[in-house]
Amino acid sequence: MPELPEVETTARELKKKVLGRTFLDVWTDFPKMIRLRQGYGGQVKKTFEQFKKEIKGRKIKDIKRRGKNILFELSGSKTLLVHQKLTGHFLYGKWEKQGDKWKPSSGPLSEKINTYIHLLFTLDNGQMLALSDLRKFAKVELWGTNQLKGSEALKSLGPEPLDKSFTFKKFKEILKNKKGKIKQVLMNQAVVAGIGNIYSDEILFKAKVHPFKNVPKLSEAELKKIYQAIKKILPLAVELQGESISDYRVLSGERGLFDKARKVYRREGEKCNRCGTKIKRAKIGGRSAHFCPQCQKE
Ligand SMILES: [Zn+2]
Repeated sequence: MPELPEVETTARELKKKVLGRTFLDVWTDFPKMIRLRQGYGGQVKKTFEQFKKEIKGRKIKDIKRRGKNILFELSGSKTLLVHQKLTGHFLYGKWEKQGDKWKPSSGPLSEKINTYIHLLFTLDNGQMLALSDLRKFAKVELWGTNQLKGSEALKSLGPEPLDKSFTFKKFKEILKNKKGKIKQVLMNQAVVAGIGNIYSDEILFKAKVHPFKNVPKLSEAELKKIYQAIKKILPLAVELQGESISDYRVLSGERGLFDKARKVYRREGEKCNRCGTKIKRAKIGGRSAHFCPQCQKE
């Protein structure tokens, strides 16, 4: 699943490519992913035709990221919220309709993982914005901008770890009464926004803290190391445009470059780059933790 660095990369690139553009049309072969959430008192409406009517002619005034959500601020006080979920990723370019499929012009957009187009917007500059989503779990919602601010989706999110206001003091406060294993707590979106399976592994490796260690048992020094690792790893991953081990690709369809910077995630059986011990994988609440059993003692 795209995490903070991947979603941030997408949002930044979108800003460069589609800011100021107007939606001319929208197509989908999976209307279930789309929800209208404005002016219905929170009631869910699924009508794609209505969504189409609403979206056509709206201009993209701003693009923001909050947690793993992308927010397109549109003209007429509407906001399009997209959560790419497990396998969704935005692509920008040109496609041609062939039967019920969209064929990309050429290049990286032709890579298999980029061909699961289930949502496609036509823009007023002749280009297109598409969502490729193999598993079709992505969530696309149109909101009244004012209502969105109070929505559960955003209200329940914890602080943004890249914000200046995310200080060590604040981090300690957040973890103060938290129980549970540090990896799971870091992945809880209500605690800190945007960290998932990959970056929690990488952060804890850098901090030399075992992923299963219970939060109340963490020393001040360990908390500090975790905090510092968050502030190092996430900006580095943004700089490298995220990881593309699984489905995520940047807007052009190309791979992010964090794969090589990865120290433990999906490196089970490989040697730890600090001590040479074999990286271990262990189950934790239905997910996998990757860590060095020597450097990260429980
Ligand atoms: Zn090690």
